[in-house]
Amino acid sequence: MNPLRPSIANMAGYVPGFQPPDIASWIKLNTNENPYPPSPKVKEAILAELGDDAALLRTYPSASSEKLREAAAALYGFDPSWIIMANGSDEVLNNLIRACAGEGEEIAYVHPSYSYYATLAEIQGAKVRTFGLTDDFRIADFPERYSGRLFFLTTPNSPLGFAFPLSYVEELATRCDGLLVVDEAYADFNDCNALDLVRRYPNVVITRTLSKSYALAGMRLGLAIARPEIVAALDKIRDHYNLDRLAQAACVAALQDQDYFKKRRDQVVATRKFFVTELQSLGYTVLESAGNFVFASPPDRNGRRVYDGLYARKILVRHFSDPLLAHGLRISIGTREEMEQTLGALREIG
Ligand code: PMP
Repeated sequence: MNPLRPSIANMAGYVPGFQPPDIASWIKLNTNENPYPPSPKVKEAILAELGDDAALLRTYPSASSEKLREAAAALYGFDPSWIIMANGSDEVLNNLIRACAGEGEEIAYVHPSYSYYATLAEIQGAKVRTFGLTDDFRIADFPERYSGRLFFLTTPNSPLGFAFPLSYVEELATRCDGLLVVDEAYADFNDCNALDLVRRYPNVVITRTLSKSYALAGMRLGLAIARPEIVAALDKIRDHYNLDRLAQAACVAALQDQDYFKKRRDQVVATRKFFVTELQSLGYTVLESAGNFVFASPPDRNGRRVYDGLYARKILVRHFSDPLLAHGLRISIGTREEMEQTLGALREIG
């Protein structure tokens, strides 16, 4: 007997962005990581947690991540009962699906956006529906009332970079019978977010990550902000020790060092503006971005050719073979020097 559920045996599985083993020798602009290190307070907090002999690692971490919840609650202006911490926002996206969408029930998301929602739903045996985008970046054919269990809205959108106006997100909240999950992985680089909608609409949930704006992709830290009833349900189904001791120490230190956070965020946004102007002067079409990356197409609309040219020069960007996206590249914003080298390479590639 094949012990695997047929749906699992047959599913394709998600392929994350490539992480080269010799990472330091690349200019790595393919997974929207932060080019700067995390706050120096993060290293201090990790070392303090480790102590001289790492003895605390003998013991389990806090199961409720209460210090992190308090730090996040203070930052976003909520009671801690509205916050759940996660081992990367991927974990909480998974648990939202596990909590709300059973076998045969429907979830939906926008294509193109973060296709991992589909993988997570498939694992649960849930049905997946996708909605396309109109030319002016609204959702095509969204029903007057959407009756699926969850609708995932990535804003700012990845890979395209645009953000939906808040008034539109609010309108969608009123049209969803189930949860509207606003995936704000990139919202720290944007000047608006849906935090206020969580307070006003019981079906709105926000997910955030510390992977991008806090430069902590390697620690796996994310969170969701939602009504206490939803948080309580998510709390029941997560791994009970979902965040290790070092991640918990790092998280509190990072969230509390807002001066450092803002300084680095502003640097990334300034570099993005510089890079966009320079790309345009090379004849690239660049979509306006509210994230730490841009989606850009070369004049011949052959994204793969430019990807290969950059790859040969050890510059890694993201090319998607999907026909909707194949004409362009998603390029994460690195340091100013990295972007200048990338521009130099693009001039050579032509
Ligand atoms: N949502 C979006 C839109 C993303 O791009 C990513 C990262 N690729 C995630 C969620 C997951 O982030 P993490 O698990 O690192 O917090």
